[in-house]
Amino acid sequence: MTAQPHAPSYYAASANPAPQRPALKGNISADVCVIGGGYTGCHAALTLAEQGYRVVLLEANRIGWGASGRNGGQLCTGFARGQGSLEKALGKADAARLFQLAEEAKAIVARRIEQHRIACDLTWGYLYGAPKARHLEGLRHELEELEANGYRRARLLDRAGLAPHLASDAYVGGLLDEGAGHLHPLNFALGLAAAAAAAGASLHEASAVTRVTPGAKVRVETAEGSVTADFCVAACNAYLDGLLPQIQSRMMPVATYMTATAPLGENRAKALIPSNVAVGDTNFVLNYFRRSADHRLLFGGGVSYTARMPASLPADMRRTMLRVFPQLADARQDFTWGGNVSITQDRAPHLGRVAPNLYFAQGFSGQGVAITAIAAKVIAEAIKGQAERFDLFARIPHRPFPGGKYLRAPTLALAMTWFRLRDRL
Ligand SMILES: Cc1cc2nc3c(=O)[nH]c(=O)nc-3n(C[C@H](O)[C@H](O)[C@H](O)COP(=O)(O)OP(=O)(O)OC[C@H]3O[C@@H](n4cnc5c(N)ncnc54)[C@H](O)[C@@H]3O)c2cc1C
Repeated sequence: MTAQPHAPSYYAASANPAPQRPALKGNISADVCVIGGGYTGCHAALTLAEQGYRVVLLEANRIGWGASGRNGGQLCTGFARGQGSLEKALGKADAARLFQLAEEAKAIVARRIEQHRIACDLTWGYLYGAPKARHLEGLRHELEELEANGYRRARLLDRAGLAPHLASDAYVGGLLDEGAGHLHPLNFALGLAAAAAAAGASLHEASAVTRVTPGAKVRVETAEGSVTADFCVAACNAYLDGLLPQIQSRMMPVATYMTATAPLGENRAKALIPSNVAVGDTNFVLNYFRRSADHRLLFGGGVSYTARMPASLPADMRRTMLRVFPQLADARQDFTWGGNVSITQDRAPHLGRVAPNLYFAQGFSGQGVAITAIAAKVIAEAIKGQAERFDLFARIPHRPFPGGKYLRAPTLALAMTWFRLRDRL
C-alpha cells in the first residue's frame, strides 16, 4: 500500500511546514506503540513521551492525513450525545464527571497550543444556530443542562441577539458559547506531532500497520518492519478498516464534506460573521461554518455513504451555503474536500481495551477536536496504572450497528434520509 498525501483541502494549501517522517524499517522495541497520526495518536504520543515512555507512532500516510487534518476546526463543549442522554445511560454523577473531562479536553488543547506555540489560529466563541423555533426550545433545554453542570459561559440569543454575530436570516435564534471556539485543524495536528517528536517520540509516516498481535508484549507489523511494545494504542478512528475486527462494528465511518470560498476580503468576511465565532446549526445533518484567518468562508455539511466524493458535491454544498448566506452568490469556491468521521450508535466516544495492554479510542462522532485530547490522556493514565478516568469512558455502553459489515451503511443511510426529511419539517 502506498502512502497518500494530505487531501487537497484549504488546510493542506495553508499548512505550516512540516518534515516528512521516515517510514519504519526493521524490527524495534518500544514501551508504547501508537497506531495512527491524528489528534488521538499525537496527543497520546506527546503525553506518554513527556512522562518518559519510549514511544513509537506509526501513521499509514502523513501526520494529520485523516479527519484531524480535514475537519471543521470547531472546538466544542461537552459531548455530541448530550448530557441528558449520558445521564440516562450512566447516572447523574458519572455523566457530570464526564462533562468535567470534556471541559478538561478543551483546556488541554488551549494549553498545548500555548505551551508549544502551535500557530493554528485558535479563536474563542461558538454559536449554535436554531433554524426553527422548536430547535431554540431544544437549545434552551441544553443550556439548562450545561448550567446544571456548573457551566456559565453560554447564553441564549433571540433573532435580534444574533445580529452582532451572524448576518443570516436562516436562524431564529441561537446559543452563544464563549468557552468553545475554532482552530486550523491540520496545523494543530502538525504542531502536536512536532511537540511529541521534541519530547522524544519516534514518528513514522508511510508506515501502515498490517497486523496487530496481542500478547505479553504486543507485536505491531508494517510492510517493512515491526514494533514489539509493552503497550499499544490504536488511534485509527474512522480509518480502522478492519485492523481490529473486535471494535469495528461499534462505529460507522461516514463521509462528510467541506468547501472553502476564495478569499473574500477582510470587510466582506467580517460582515458575514462579525464576532468571528464558529457556527454550527441544530439540524441532525448539521451545517457548520466559520471564517478562516485569510478571510474565506469555510463551510461544512452533508454526508454520504460511498467511498467516492459525489460529483455533484461542490454544487450541492454551494446550494446549502447560499441558503445560509445568499450574499455569497458571486463567491468562487476554491476547495471542496471530504473526510470520514467515526460515529457510534449513541454518539458517545468509544474507549476500551482489546487486550489488557492494547487500548483503543474511536467514535468521536464529529466532536473529536476537543475530546481526543482527554481520550489520549486517560489512556496514558491507564498505561501508567491509574485507570479510574479511563474506566469512566469505558463504562459507556455501545451497541453494534445492525446489519453486519455490508448492510451497516445502507441501514444508516435510510435512517439519515429520515432525519434529513425531519429537518425540513
Ligand atoms: C469533514 C470533517 C469535519 C469535521 N468537523 C469537526 C469539527 O468541526 N469539530 C470536531 O470536534 N470534530 C470534527 N470532525 C471529527 C474530528 O475530525 C475527529 O473526531 C478527529 O479528528 C479524530 O481524530 P483521530 O486521531 O481519532 O482520527 P484521525 O484524525 O482520522 O486519524 C486516524 C489516523 O490513523 C491512521 N491509520 C488508520 N489505519 C492505520 C494503520 N493500519 N496503520 C497506521 N495508521 C493508520 C490514518 O491514516 C489516520 O491518519 C470532523 C471530521 C471530518 C472528516
